[in-house]
Amino acid sequence: MTTLATLAQRNRAFAATHPGQRPGLEPSLKTVILCCADHRADPAHVLGLRPNEAIVIRNPGGRVTPDFLRNLGVLATIARVEHLSSGFELILMQHTDCGLSHLSPETHAEVLAPFLGVGPAELGAKNLSDPMEAVRSDIALLRQNPFVPPR
Ligand SMILES: [Zn+2]
Repeated sequence: MTTLATLAQRNRAFAATHPGQRPGLEPSLKTVILCCADHRADPAHVLGLRPNEAIVIRNPGGRVTPDFLRNLGVLATIARVEHLSSGFELILMQHTDCGLSHLSPETHAEVLAPFLGVGPAELGAKNLSDPMEAVRSDIALLRQNPFVPPR
């Protein structure tokens, strides 16, 4: 069986066990999670997320990028238009041994700089090889964004 056929079969089984369910737009935990695309760091597994609990946005590294900030702006607009309650929390989840840390700012600047929204000379400040510092610098970047909740 192909991967696609396997996943389609799983989807049919899911749909059969959730007939007629159509959850609202607001996730029950009122939370947005930004995390790495790495299959080893899936928030459904490592945080025990269940369906409809959180909005999950994934990218390589779980980094605050210009694309992520645009996504956040669109989500905030949807929340406003749909009159969703305020008070969402934002969780930034990065991890050790991230594939992004295997890229060198010197060797892979042409990929990293536009992804992170900085010039090649600023890549060092993105702390690609230190996940703790990467989180700190991304939180500092988030604090400058009007769509980010205060916590
Ligand atoms: Zn990663």
